[in-house]
Amino acid sequence: MTLSVEQARELVLKRCHVLETEEVPLLEALGRVLATDARSDIDVAPFDNSAMDGYAVHAADLAGAAEDAPVTLAVISHIAAGDHSELEVRPGQAARIMTGAPVPPGADAVVMVEFTDAGEAAGSTGGTVRVMREVIVGENIRRRAEEVSAGDVVLSAGEVIGPAAVGLLASTGHATVTVYRRPRVAVISTGDELVEVAERPGPGKIRNSNSYSIAAQVIAAGGIPLRYAIVHDDPDATREAFMSAAAEADFIVTSGGVSVGDFDYVKPVLEELGEMEFCKVAMRPGNPQTLGSIDGVPFFGLPGNPTSTFVGFEIFVRPALRYMQGHAKFDRPRHTATLAHDVKKKQDRRYFLRARLERLDDGSFSVALSGSQSSALLTAAHRGNCLLVLPEGKRFFEAGSTAEVIRLDMEEGIV
Ligand code: AMP
Ligand code: MG
Repeated sequence: MTLSVEQARELVLKRCHVLETEEVPLLEALGRVLATDARSDIDVAPFDNSAMDGYAVHAADLAGAAEDAPVTLAVISHIAAGDHSELEVRPGQAARIMTGAPVPPGADAVVMVEFTDAGEAAGSTGGTVRVMREVIVGENIRRRAEEVSAGDVVLSAGEVIGPAAVGLLASTGHATVTVYRRPRVAVISTGDELVEVAERPGPGKIRNSNSYSIAAQVIAAGGIPLRYAIVHDDPDATREAFMSAAAEADFIVTSGGVSVGDFDYVKPVLEELGEMEFCKVAMRPGNPQTLGSIDGVPFFGLPGNPTSTFVGFEIFVRPALRYMQGHAKFDRPRHTATLAHDVKKKQDRRYFLRARLERLDDGSFSVALSGSQSSALLTAAHRGNCLLVLPEGKRFFEAGSTAEVIRLDMEEGIV
């Protein structure tokens, strides 16, 4: 049975489960999903503080202050960031204050240094300052607990930790964070024609590039690749590799050997050791996409052609790996663009073509194929930044018409 892309992806996700959690140093949480609510141990900000370099004042003292009617205040203290002054600012007085320094008792606003003119003793303690502008109560004061109060949730379970979240977690005392574990992904390339990358292929041989491109996609999806040695087109070698992968990995990805070739052993061995759920999806490139499991470990067999591998991973394996890491969003941003040229399909299946999206001067998007669409070639995938999706049921797509693209340059859930 040939499945639709949606049916197939649903079955892939069903076969996976969210992994356990682990506590990691804060920076290692970047890009990962928070597993438990993170609360703050303190108020952030911990105290009222100045948003500007200037003078802490009584706003009422400056009523009517202007360029031609400056108000002179006595400067009683000088508070730098990191300092702490208990000295009360009384009416008629000011404290020179730097950005981030605690607002002293008594003061209810800060006037920016730009609107002052240092008088005697250059506006320092013991001198005076002339202020040329009114302020309102609270002006230029950042309030205690403006970000979060002690004991409150600063980040909720399920939120993805980006750079700003790392900063929030740091300011609220989280040197370590509980996140979902990264999946260990066995990457197994099959094929008698394959040689290692460091080798120069002899007659009839090619380099095992899929092992690297898949491992790179695993890393990009947040997983840990376990690259296996090349598995020859031989049932015993295939069995051995699959068994050790099932013993040590959370997910198994293979490339090649899922077609109807005479030496394609992936499917028979999968059925022997575990179970196979489907082996065909109505898409191009890469119709022989294969799902199963061995000893409960999800197994996805990608076709061998490098671009079929690349697209199959993107559409089926990446969502699975994200699901296992606690993510709730599995769709990269999609939107429409205008076709820069005609595109023809040979088959009725859903096409995922390697294409490049460009933003035009009027703000609209134009999309063009980024190179040869042969599934044996990777250059178009490298030069592209999106997949151009051509639906089933239509074979000709005219220049100037609207088409859907999947943004490979943006993470799921961004927009
Ligand atoms: P298969 O699915 O095994 O019939 O392979 C389909 C095509 O993909 C063949 O042309 C293979 O040579 C090629 N291929 C298979 N595995 C790899 C690999 N690991 N790296 C690069 N190309 C591969
Ligand atoms: Mg093969």
